[in-house]
Amino acid sequence: MKLHEHQAKGLLARYGVPVPRGRAVWTVEEAGQVANEIGLPVVVKAQIHAGGRGKGGGVRLARTFAEVETHARNLLGARLVTQQTGPEGRVVRRLLIEEGLDLQGSREMYMAVTVDRALARPILMASARGGVNIEDLAASEPEAIVRESVDPLAGLHGFQARRVALALGFGGALLAPATDFLLAVFRAFEGLDAGLVEVNPWLLTADGRFVALDAKLDLDDNALFRHSELAEMRDTSEESPLEVEAARHDLNYIKLEGGNVGCMVNGAGLAMATMDIIKLAGGSPANFLDVGGGASADQVRHAFRILIADPDVRAVLVNIFGGILRCDVLAEGIVAAARELNVAVPVVVRMKGTNEAQGQAILRGSNLAFETADDMADAAAKVVAAAGGPR
Ligand code: GDP
Ligand code: MN
Repeated sequence: MKLHEHQAKGLLARYGVPVPRGRAVWTVEEAGQVANEIGLPVVVKAQIHAGGRGKGGGVRLARTFAEVETHARNLLGARLVTQQTGPEGRVVRRLLIEEGLDLQGSREMYMAVTVDRALARPILMASARGGVNIEDLAASEPEAIVRESVDPLAGLHGFQARRVALALGFGGALLAPATDFLLAVFRAFEGLDAGLVEVNPWLLTADGRFVALDAKLDLDDNALFRHSELAEMRDTSEESPLEVEAARHDLNYIKLEGGNVGCMVNGAGLAMATMDIIKLAGGSPANFLDVGGGASADQVRHAFRILIADPDVRAVLVNIFGGILRCDVLAEGIVAAARELNVAVPVVVRMKGTNEAQGQAILRGSNLAFETADDMADAAAKVVAAAGGPR
C-alpha cells in the first residue's frame, strides 16, 4: 500500500528523520491558514500516488499569500499529468503546504531502503546524483549508486551507514549527521514494515543540514494487520476502483492492458496457466480475478460482478479447479450473478474436481446460455472465438 508524501514524511519524522515543516490541506482556505502558520515562502505540493510532479507542475513555490491561493486553486480538483501517471493523469484532492527551503547552495542527493529480492535482504542505496529519475541513473551510470546489503537480523550497522556517507563524500563534520539520517530512515523502514522508503531529493542544505525534501513510502500489505493506524491511511481514491472493490470481498483482481477476455480462476498458478493458454489460442486476457481457495457462492457472485464491470471484457472464461471450493458452490455463485446482472457477454465455464457433476447440473438447470468446456485448450479456443477471434 502506497502512502501520500505528507503521510510518509509524518511517519519518517517519528523515527527522527528531519523533514520540512508542513501539513496536508484539502481546501484553498486551509492552504492559506497553513501558509500563515508556517510563514512564507511555502511550497504547494500536489499529493498524488505518483512522482514526476516537479516537472509536471505539481510542485509550486509561493512567495506571497496570493500565490499560495492561486497555486492551491489551480491544483485542487485539477488532473495532474506526470511521466508516472499515464496520459489520463490523477485528480489532485489534497495538497501539502510546506516551508519553502532555499535551495541556493544546497545539494540534492538520493537515498532509499528497499528489499533486495535476489538476496532476500534489505538494501540501502544512495547516490550523490539526486533529484533525477533514479531508474534512468541506474541504467546509464550504475556505478553512481552506492549499495549496502543489510543483515535482516542485525539491522543496518553504524559502520555500513558511515561507509555509504563517506562514499558520497560526506566526511568531517558532515559524517555524523549523514550517518544519523541513513540510520533513522532504516529504523523507519524496519519499524513500519515497509517495502520501500525513498528520499529523493535527499537534501543537504547550504548550512549543512540533511533533510528529506521528498519521501515515498510503500508499506507491506501483509504486515498491515500489525499497524491498524497505518491501514487507516489508505487512500482508496488513488487505487483502481475494481481492485478496491475486490479487496473488500477478499478477492484478488488484476487488470491487464490490451486484452478482452475476463478470467475467473482460483490460485495464482492456474491464473498463469490460463493466461498462457488464452495466448496460445490467439487471444489476450483483460483481467484476472482470483477467488482463492475456499470462496463462498456469495464471493463468486461478487467476483463475477467485478469481472464484467471491466469495459474491456468481451467474453468470460471461468477456469476453476474444485478443491476446497466445490464446483456446485461455484456454479451457484455464477448462476446467481448471471441472473442478477443480466450478463450480456458470452461465458465459457471449465470446472474440474469436487462435485463437478452437480456443478454442471446447476449450470444446465439455470437455462442461461453458458458454454461449457472439457479441458483448458477447448475452453481457451471457445472463449477466444466468443470474444471475437484471435487478435
Ligand atoms: P517529484 O517531482 O514528484 O519527485 O516531487 P519532489 O518533491 O521531488 O519535488 C520536485 C522538485 O521540486 C525538487 O527536486 C525540488 O527542486 C523542488 N522543491 C521541492 N521542495 C522545494 C522547496 O522547499 N524549495 C524549493 N525551492 N524547491 C523545492
Ligand atoms: Mn521526488
